[in-house]
Amino acid sequence: MNPDIFHYIVITSISGVLSLILALYAFSKRRILSSSTIFVWMSVFSAIYIFGHALELASGSLEESIIWLKVQYFGMPFVPPLSLLLALQFIGSEKGHQARFAIPLFIIPVFTTLFCLTNEVHHFMYRDIYLRPGEVQPLIDIVAGPWYVVHGSFTFGCLLLGAILLARYWLQTKAKYWKQVLTMIIGFFIPVIASFLYLLGLSPYGMDPVPIVMCFTSALYLWAILSTKLFVIAPIARDRIFESMRDGVLVIDMANQLVDYNRAARKIIQALHFSKIGSLVNEIWADSGIGPFPFPEHPAEEEQEVEWIHPNNNSYYQIHIAPVRNQKGDVVGRTIVIINTTKQKALEKRLTQLAYTDGLTKIFNRAYLFEKCEEVVEIAAQHQQPLALIMFDIDFFKKINDNFGHAVGDEAIRHVVYICNRHMGPEYIFGRYGGEEFVVCLPDTTLDEAGIFAERIRKDIEDTPLSTSEDELIITASFGVSGLQGAVRSLDVLLQEADRALYVSKENGRNTVHLADQAVFV
Ligand code: GH3
Ligand code: MG
Ligand code: MG
Repeated sequence: MNPDIFHYIVITSISGVLSLILALYAFSKRRILSSSTIFVWMSVFSAIYIFGHALELASGSLEESIIWLKVQYFGMPFVPPLSLLLALQFIGSEKGHQARFAIPLFIIPVFTTLFCLTNEVHHFMYRDIYLRPGEVQPLIDIVAGPWYVVHGSFTFGCLLLGAILLARYWLQTKAKYWKQVLTMIIGFFIPVIASFLYLLGLSPYGMDPVPIVMCFTSALYLWAILSTKLFVIAPIARDRIFESMRDGVLVIDMANQLVDYNRAARKIIQALHFSKIGSLVNEIWADSGIGPFPFPEHPAEEEQEVEWIHPNNNSYYQIHIAPVRNQKGDVVGRTIVIINTTKQKALEKRLTQLAYTDGLTKIFNRAYLFEKCEEVVEIAAQHQQPLALIMFDIDFFKKINDNFGHAVGDEAIRHVVYICNRHMGPEYIFGRYGGEEFVVCLPDTTLDEAGIFAERIRKDIEDTPLSTSEDELIITASFGVSGLQGAVRSLDVLLQEADRALYVSKENGRNTVHLADQAVFV
């Protein structure tokens, strides 16, 4: 045998063995390696192709060579689509996992295998297969048939597309996993280049160099797996999580220059773009027209948090800045996490409202009424300022309930509150004291002034009947007013005195205002 051909066969066989080792390795690591299934299949098909080729070269006759040629086609046509799927999975594309995308990729390879097996019948794949003249060793040459062109184009197409996708990913991921991606790209291009050389007639002895270079491709993959942890799930998963996070994340270096950002951050900060990598973060903020960057130029080493309202969409955000440390513990950069808190804010507001207000009337509830009144009574007593308190109760309310029903009763309560609200000043504290009893606390108001104020409300209630479906319902209320009048008295005493005055109003025919220890209005 020609020693060159012998070497060629040996190298090709080594390439086949390497492919099998890769397949076994990937299979044993299937728990921690993503894409291991595809990788195992790709390596197995490569091995079939490579060993088939080695045995074809070692054959003693044309018939034997043709048999091994056919064996190669049980492997070779399936390697390019599997490589493409591998690339898709590597870059995290959903398509790499979708059967409806993957299965059609194998239609052409299946036909290639079938046409190769049955070539004698139709010569679709090879018009002719003949022994190369003048060689001691029987080497075969072929004349390509129409399907050979389809098969060749498909093979190149898959490999080229895979390489382009990887190259694009390489640029988009800001060279984070550049070693892994570059290894993949080289692995893709090696057989493509070898095939071109073969087609241009530049390969030694005019022999197909692809099975030999598959050995380099396999070696590259093996090196990549062992040294740069290619296909290990963690970095890819981390990248995916980073990209799919709902919170916006920016990474800046010690000079406040942008290093990385995710998709969510770009939605919040319009100016974020790949070209902004390396730009100052405060400039990016300024370019986005969203006010100043909410942290000092040289933030402290500790974590910090600020509330931020996006000026363009009025959404609430919490921005968290935290140092990134290297293994030695030195700060090497910062992460900025932007969390949308609009929903929480709305919920907080709603909860606060529920805690402070009465459900039926939307004015202060009893507990909050007391709390607020106590505050102002204390201030007034401290500063010796006047303060008055009005308590009022709807007259004969039970009758409204009895005659018109509870729903109209509720309507009457809301109606009275609506009328009172027309008179309330910003300083006044108005709340529901009980069922149909209310309290108004008037800071900086004397007893007499409060009496006049109460009288105004009383009259307005009397003059504004409630329209029901049946009739106009005249509602009246009785009022009691008490005041601090400079003396230091507690809220309890004020309430007691107002209650007593209210009782006097009830006793005196209702629909009146009585001042504590004072004259009657009306
Ligand atoms: P008076 O003139 O002496 O005040 O007579 P009144 O009938 O109004 O007597 P009172 O103030 O004691 O009546 C309170 C009634 O109000 C008792 C209760 O059934 C009713 N009530 C309390 N809260 C509500 C409410 O939220 N909705 C309705 N519809 N009725 C209520
Ligand atoms: Mg009443
Ligand atoms: Mg009452």
